[in-house]
Amino acid sequence: MIDSLRQKPVFRFAPSPNGLLHLGHAFSALLNQNMAQALDARLLLRIEDIDLSRCTPALEAAILSDLDWLGIEFEQPPRRQSDHFGDYRAALDGLIAAELVYPSFMTRGEVKAHVAAFEAREGRPWPRDPDGSPHYPPSDRGLPMEERQKRLACGMKHAWRLDMAAAIARLDAPLSWQETGDGQTGTIAADPAAWGDVVLSRSDAPSSYHLSVSLDDALQGVTHVVRGLDLFHATSVHRLLQQLLGLPAPVYHHHRLIPGPDGRKLSKSFGDTGLSALRQAGASPADIRRLVGL
Ligand code: GLU
Repeated sequence: MIDSLRQKPVFRFAPSPNGLLHLGHAFSALLNQNMAQALDARLLLRIEDIDLSRCTPALEAAILSDLDWLGIEFEQPPRRQSDHFGDYRAALDGLIAAELVYPSFMTRGEVKAHVAAFEAREGRPWPRDPDGSPHYPPSDRGLPMEERQKRLACGMKHAWRLDMAAAIARLDAPLSWQETGDGQTGTIAADPAAWGDVVLSRSDAPSSYHLSVSLDDALQGVTHVVRGLDLFHATSVHRLLQQLLGLPAPVYHHHRLIPGPDGRKLSKSFGDTGLSALRQAGASPADIRRLVGL
């Protein structure tokens, strides 16, 4: 086949500009670049900035500058999620119409109190998701439609959550994904139920990580998702959303995480493992590659 007509694989790096890049991000971006080059693939950049209270243009500019300095070339322009809230809303509206999501009104404090009361009363733990957060209590899921409408009409703060049991009941077959990363590999059985009723549209943002990442990977034609092992279990939710929204499934590669100097997972408050700090201290892009083992 003529080479230019061949469908090339598509990789993407998807940082959130709610902090500066650290060595873990550099590893992820460089690994995406290496793997894309090996397959003669396209390499996209997506700015995941749906949290408008924490993501800033200054942080986005710093991220672009660090990636440029590392020598990674992405197709231009990057996709900025805050430019596409309409896409996420349309997907959410489809799920509302399919009666697979519901508005949830409990605050974080109310959920915490509910869980504590249950555990004290029953003497057994309340279910928690793979990240350790408690499942959302079932009360709002069963709220009569009239009460739901009344609360929405008077502007009560709410998030939209997936009715996980209803969503799983719509599946024809159990879900799985193809994994090539540094943990388990091969066909991985998805377990979305482990997450409970996940948020698809936050009370303070018109989408959520799970919804926008699943939709954008499809809208951008992403064929290979290369990201940290910390997102391995989240893939179960993404596979479910792909299925509900009729989207294709990419291949996943969840890579090892770069530990901080104390051996723990790097966070946004990373001190001297920040890329800009390392740059200022005189490190070269080749030093960064070496530091992350590439
Ligand atoms: N935006 C996410 C982060 O910075 C990554 C999302 C993904 O790669 O799926 O952790």
